[in-house]
Amino acid sequence: MAELTKTKENLENKGYKVSLFETGAEAAAYLNEQIDGTTVAIGGMKTAEEIGLFDSLAKHNDAVWHWRQDPAEALKKAMSTDCYIASANGISEDGTIVNIDHTGNRLASILYGHNKVYLVIGVNKLCDTLEDAIWRARNIAAPKRAKSMERKTPCVYKEKCFDCKSPDRLCRGMLVLMYPMGSSEMEVILVNEELGM
Ligand code: SF4
Repeated sequence: MAELTKTKENLENKGYKVSLFETGAEAAAYLNEQIDGTTVAIGGMKTAEEIGLFDSLAKHNDAVWHWRQDPAEALKKAMSTDCYIASANGISEDGTIVNIDHTGNRLASILYGHNKVYLVIGVNKLCDTLEDAIWRARNIAAPKRAKSMERKTPCVYKEKCFDCKSPDRLCRGMLVLMYPMGSSEMEVILVNEELGM
C-alpha cells in the first residue's frame, strides 16, 4: 500500500520541494503564508473549493479563478500570473503525477508560464503505481467531474470510464508529469486528508 511519507521522499529525490500536512486547513494556511502580495491563479480543482483557497488568497493577492469569475477573462488572465495552483487526478508512490483536462488550461499552466507551481494533493489521490494513477484519473476523477458538470456521458451513470465518443466528453488530454518542469519552481503539497475528486 502506497505511503505518503515514501511519496514525499521520492518527489524530493526528483527535485520537487515537498510539504506534508495532516489537514487541508493546514495546507491552506501554509499557501497563504507562501503566496502573499502577488498574482495567483487557481486551476479547476475541487480541492481548492473544499479548503476555501480562493477566498483566503484573494484577501491579500490578485487572485484569479475561473470557477468564481468571468471564465473567459479569468482563463486568459490565469495564463500569466506569478503563481499557479492545481491538484492531481492521481499520483503514484514513485512521484509521478497524472492529470486529465478538457480545456487544457490546467495542463498548460502546470507545464509552463508561471514562476511557481503548487500541486495540492490529498491522500485519496495516492496510488501504488503509475498504471493505478492513470486508472484512477480515468475511472474515478473524470467520472466524478463529469457528474458534477452534468455532462451527458456514460461515466456519469456507471461511474467508470467508457472511453466515450460523446460530444460532451470531458477527457481530452492527459499529462503525466515524470519530473518537475525545467522552467518553474514546483512544489507538491501532500495532505493526509481526502480532498477533491
Ligand atoms: S472519456 Fe468519456 S466516459 Fe470516460 S471518463 Fe471521460 S467523459 Fe467519462
